[in-house]
Amino acid sequence: MRYDLAGLVQRAGRTRRREIVFREVRLPGTLASDLYAAIYAPVLDVWGKAIAPLIDEYQRSLSEITTDAAPELSGVITSTDAATAALLVTLRVRLERWAAMVEAAHRSKWLASINRATGIDAGMMIGPGDMRATLGTVIERNVELVRSVSDQARSRISDAVFRGLTEKRPAREVAAQIREAVAMGRRRALNIASDQLSKAAETLNDQRRAEAGLSTWEWVSSHKAHPRAEHAARDGKRYDDKAKSGPHKPPQDRPGQLIHCGCTSRAVLTLDGEF
Ligand SMILES: [Zn+2]
Repeated sequence: MRYDLAGLVQRAGRTRRREIVFREVRLPGTLASDLYAAIYAPVLDVWGKAIAPLIDEYQRSLSEITTDAAPELSGVITSTDAATAALLVTLRVRLERWAAMVEAAHRSKWLASINRATGIDAGMMIGPGDMRATLGTVIERNVELVRSVSDQARSRISDAVFRGLTEKRPAREVAAQIREAVAMGRRRALNIASDQLSKAAETLNDQRRAEAGLSTWEWVSSHKAHPRAEHAARDGKRYDDKAKSGPHKPPQDRPGQLIHCGCTSRAVLTLDGEF
């Protein structure tokens, strides 16, 4: 605990309530689009730009009598891969910038939520530095993910061209397969970006709560069209991070952690230690 929010509320003496439920922090989806645009799209654009030279080389290789080596085709793939690797080096800086944006947006909403619920301005007590380690993990995870998206595109593209060559498939067919490989990468990356934003937001929720000395929280269902039944059933249920057993022990999967889980949590402050 970095500061004792319950103690501050009690000393301020502005409430006679025994519990305060905070409004949940929701981050704008544009932050997911920003992540996609800054990190994932540039890598897939490099693969997208390789489609034309790949098909040129494919046509040339196809017209040759022996296709065993197809060194020029391998050359295009290798040099595109090298271009993505060079790009990946610069992506960490962009990721740090994105993570700082997410933290700032989250912190300002969390402070507003504290202020609205308690009248307390906690702005002097918390800052971006508290979340450095948490954001470091988010950044590393995204570095891995963008690498995996690029590797997957490379392996699908190289499968398509070399299988095409072996089977003597027409260039337009192989071109369609390569375009689809890049499109699949884009779809996967869009999902990853939105998922990474939910996970980052929920991790920040947990950390900011812990920092304020709050261990109780309420599950907030995504209220999406097709929620997980067990998540919908948890809507409004209270959990206590200190509970090791019993009905208030948090479930294994926390809000926002499973893929496409749009659930979140709201903090609860109990002034008499019970809820
Ligand atoms: Zn959910």
